[in-house]
Amino acid sequence: MISVSEAQTLVIKYAEKLPICNIELENSLGYFLAEDCIAPISLPSFRQSAMDGYAFINTGDKHLKVIGQVQAGDSITPQLKSGEAIRIFTGAPLPDGADTVVIQEHVNRDGDSIHIEKLPALGANVRPIAEQLKAGTTVLKTGHKINEASIGFMAGLGLTHLKAYQKPRICILTTGNELQTRGTLLKPNHIYESNGIMLETALKRLGVFDIQIVKVEDSLSQTIDAVHNSLKSADVLLVSGGISVGDFDFVREAFQQNEIEEHFYKVNQKPGKPLWFGSKGSKSVFGLPGNPASSLSCFYAYVLPHIQKRSGSLNPFLEKRTAFLTEKIKNIHSKTLFLKAGVYNNEITPFTGQASSMLNTFANSNALLIVPEQIEDLEIGDSVSYLDLNY
Ligand code: AMP
Ligand code: MG
Repeated sequence: MISVSEAQTLVIKYAEKLPICNIELENSLGYFLAEDCIAPISLPSFRQSAMDGYAFINTGDKHLKVIGQVQAGDSITPQLKSGEAIRIFTGAPLPDGADTVVIQEHVNRDGDSIHIEKLPALGANVRPIAEQLKAGTTVLKTGHKINEASIGFMAGLGLTHLKAYQKPRICILTTGNELQTRGTLLKPNHIYESNGIMLETALKRLGVFDIQIVKVEDSLSQTIDAVHNSLKSADVLLVSGGISVGDFDFVREAFQQNEIEEHFYKVNQKPGKPLWFGSKGSKSVFGLPGNPASSLSCFYAYVLPHIQKRSGSLNPFLEKRTAFLTEKIKNIHSKTLFLKAGVYNNEITPFTGQASSMLNTFANSNALLIVPEQIEDLEIGDSVSYLDLNY
């Protein structure tokens, strides 16, 4: 049995980056850049007004003659001399010679002449060429996670495509004879299958959409075949259930039969002790515990960072934060605990109902409180770490 930190080191160590793809800007949300983004143009690429007002040559003269106007998008700008002003609007090109814009609120206009009530500083309200950035500079680094701001920013640079790491293709195998599909009447002694859709949804939040879910009976030969078939197309295989030590848990044996190299089996943690991780070539394989809350905990702590790393993230783990504990915690088993919890106003409360079969608690949690294996007692007011589930 290995520790949580050893297991997390291994899921990152065996997380080979996926190939690079050329992707359209509009489809790039959540991808990680595979090369630095170099600005093809300067921003702004021409001198422009930052305000609605009057452009002029700032000599200290407050009485000026208005000789024309320039609007955003105009291609020809009037030539300006000392003592003259030009009506100008936000984003419009600054006429040659003009060095300052006075905002219209500070001007009295009478026909063709203006009086400036409050003279602005030289260069005020003018956006110089390359004020934001210069053509040829690196503006986003390899590994940057693309969000709406970066998409807007790259659109402003005129970019249509970018190079990003592919997202993994995933296969989820759900094992268990007791599992029944939703939308059918529940047979005696059966339960509705819930890990498949839960893991699928968690993956979608990571921008992973190529996901197959396959139901497998508790039979060694079926499990061997299902693992074999899924590895033909998936980059990452997630198997739910069947990884414990029961007589009908065939998953580890099926991994062995498929010659998948085992990196670890069993982690000193609660929930989720019987977690398995291995790889075969560029394919990675997780055997996740069947108990739903264990499965999801293991997803957040191991599968998520593994997938983020493979997708090109430089910061693959969920953000670890700290908050003050509102209740005592006893950790009697010397295991790392991942407790379903609620964080509000910097205070964290572990919920009752931590059993690994219970998702009701998880459904109401926004945090996973981490109690390290070597900590036996935590008191009210102690500062504790947690994984932020609102990522
Ligand atoms: P296992 O890991 O296969 O021993 O399963 C542990 C527990 O989790 C059992 O109570 C199973 O019925 C339950 N379980 C396993 N797989 C699923 C699933 N896909 N959805 C919901 N519960 C499951
Ligand atoms: Mg089972």
